[in-house]
Amino acid sequence: MINRININVPFSEKDEAKKRGAKWDAKNKTWYIIEGTNLNNFDRWIQHFPTIRAKGYSLAETEMSCWKCKKQTLVYAIFLEEYEYCSTEELWYWEKVDIPSFVSYVDHLDYMAAAHIKSISKNSYYLDYSKHMNTKYYLNHCSNCNMKQGDFSVHEDNPGKGFCISNIEQLKKIKFYKYYESIELIGETSINSVLIDFF
Ligand SMILES: [Zn+2]
Repeated sequence: MINRININVPFSEKDEAKKRGAKWDAKNKTWYIIEGTNLNNFDRWIQHFPTIRAKGYSLAETEMSCWKCKKQTLVYAIFLEEYEYCSTEELWYWEKVDIPSFVSYVDHLDYMAAAHIKSISKNSYYLDYSKHMNTKYYLNHCSNCNMKQGDFSVHEDNPGKGFCISNIEQLKKIKFYKYYESIELIGETSINSVLIDFF
């Protein structure tokens, strides 16, 4: 993959961005700049530095009971078999990570992935404000009562439930929608031995 950063250019500023060297990615409907570009020329359009990218991904779907109404609801997460990680201190360096992981606390997703997720989740997994985190990130919402299902509960605090994987049977119940296209996002990965053994 080419080292690149997606930038957020309003339609009215596209000629200016192009003049400065930005390129257009028609498939993902985004402007971007490639490694070696002087970032200072693009300050006003750089909103997010992606920290994770992968050549393919899955959207994972599983059932969990809502903490509020106690009824069963579907919850979603992005799953990566392998990915590359970039720290904001070393912007153009991407480290390859061979560890399968669900991604939690996603607060930025590229256009195509966001569109797939919206459709598969029937718009129940979307950017919303979390009081607990005091920021917006992609949150699951109960299909019965629409209550937010925070990632602490879906990914961390309930062993054997949701994406807090504690055994292989739990993993086998998860449905994976696989996409053979690249993804860029900002979120958190983790290390889980059940996942490592299975994939
Ligand atoms: Zn509910």
